[in-house]
Amino acid sequence: MMTTRLDHFIGGEHRAPADGEYLESTNPATLETLYSFARGTGADIAQAVEAAQRAFDSTAWQRTTPTQRGHLLRRFGDLIGQNAEELARFESQDNGKLLREMKGQLQGLPEYLYYYAGLADKVQGSQIPTNSPEVINFTQREALGVVGLITPWNSPMTLTISKLAPALAAGNTTVIKPSEYTSRTILRLAELADEAGFPAGAVNVVTGLGAEAGQALVDAPQLAKISFTGSTRTGSAIAKSAAGRFIGSTLELGGKSPNIVFDDANVSNAAMGVIAGIFAAAGQTCIAGSRVFVQRGVYDELLEKVTARAASIVIGDPMAEDTELGPLAFAAQRDKVEEYVRLGEGEGGQIAYGGNRPDVGLPGYFFEPTVLTETTNDMRICQEEIFGPVAAIMPFDTEEEVLGLANDTEYGLAAGVWTQNLARGMRMSQRLDTGTVWINMYRAMSPMSPRQGFKNSGVGVEHGLESMHEYTRLKSVWINTDEGPVADPFVLGR
Ligand code: NAD
Repeated sequence: MMTTRLDHFIGGEHRAPADGEYLESTNPATLETLYSFARGTGADIAQAVEAAQRAFDSTAWQRTTPTQRGHLLRRFGDLIGQNAEELARFESQDNGKLLREMKGQLQGLPEYLYYYAGLADKVQGSQIPTNSPEVINFTQREALGVVGLITPWNSPMTLTISKLAPALAAGNTTVIKPSEYTSRTILRLAELADEAGFPAGAVNVVTGLGAEAGQALVDAPQLAKISFTGSTRTGSAIAKSAAGRFIGSTLELGGKSPNIVFDDANVSNAAMGVIAGIFAAAGQTCIAGSRVFVQRGVYDELLEKVTARAASIVIGDPMAEDTELGPLAFAAQRDKVEEYVRLGEGEGGQIAYGGNRPDVGLPGYFFEPTVLTETTNDMRICQEEIFGPVAAIMPFDTEEEVLGLANDTEYGLAAGVWTQNLARGMRMSQRLDTGTVWINMYRAMSPMSPRQGFKNSGVGVEHGLESMHEYTRLKSVWINTDEGPVADPFVLGR
């Protein structure tokens, strides 16, 4: 059977790669080849950036009013909703995410477009007081130009739309470089944006490898901004490159999030929160609650509940309705997770559950949900992002102690707190050094709620009103209404 061949999407049309080379994408559950996709290089990026620049400069786009941009985004959201089944299936086949999780995500995805559709005509400056009655000063927010969006494989559509929607709402045009593991849905999104009526070149997609297409996009001279979601290592290199050219970068990076259970918590709910935090999406989420701290009074009870539920997790084909844990997204990812588990054992950790490749009757990259005990927060397994279904569960005695442990990491993405004491929950939320804190819940996210990674987890804001500012620049306009003679040219005007 011929594999489907996917080309770049540039200037409103499918375009073959300049070098004529293609890569293949594999289903991580079955190891079947799914499709081949264009291996982008600098030449393809140059074409895409040019197309985006032309679209940005075009009279048609410049004259598209904010309200009209809102209509386009709404139509784009409708089309995603109408194509939800197909998009969910494509993404599940590509990265092994559960089909039912993807169906849930797809239900929510149009909301992102509707939210930013509503914001498109609310980006505004303000009038600034001056110390001179004749002088008026106001600010206005302007689109930046061509924005580069680079996204990872673990939640490709949601993470791309989180950038694309505010970028377009603010009047920019875009070039997207999706992860080499998940090109298909992002190419499909570009087609849907085109169908929604965005002008050719407003949304371009160049597929390929990070070191080739990704690097070329970061280096493209016309780029006005780069917005990146991915690992802290790549993010750091991108930030350096952007800083050297004085363009802005928004960076959403890695995490090593603490999930903290106090002895006054509803332990059954907390156990479910621990499971959701680390085993949902096979732990391949930036917000994975990989360090679980449990107050000593409920440690045994919580550990028992978590390991019992881990033992009953249905591992297998992500397309099957009853599957709870699919494969890891590719071979190197499974190997990395396995190596970390062996490392954790070498550091003195004990496996309370899992730790191996299960036999599920499929050849893919499966790994058991794994619980480690006897770990300490300073071990590598508790300091480095594993990005897999591996939890380290550690006891603590006091609030002060657990705050110290929770904050003792290079990352600052998210944290969970389980307690029925509201005052304690509030104290923890104030003192946790993370951009998101969940109390008696985990993994909640919404386009309305801004999120920011602290420390090495990121720079800049995604979602919410604030994220519109990431895609605009602020201009200050001064007007002198006094047409009389200038009294003294050597004194600063006010
Ligand atoms: P990655 O950094 O390897 O790749 C991310 C993207 O960058 C891919 O498209 C890749 O091709 C590209 N890339 C790689 N090298 C590049 C280079 N030199 N120049 C330009 N682009 C380059 O990350 P990944 O493995 O795809 O994703 C997993 C990581 O993403 C984890 O660390 C996870 O925590 C993080 N993540 C963060 C968030 C968040 O919101 N904070 C959300 C999801 C994932």
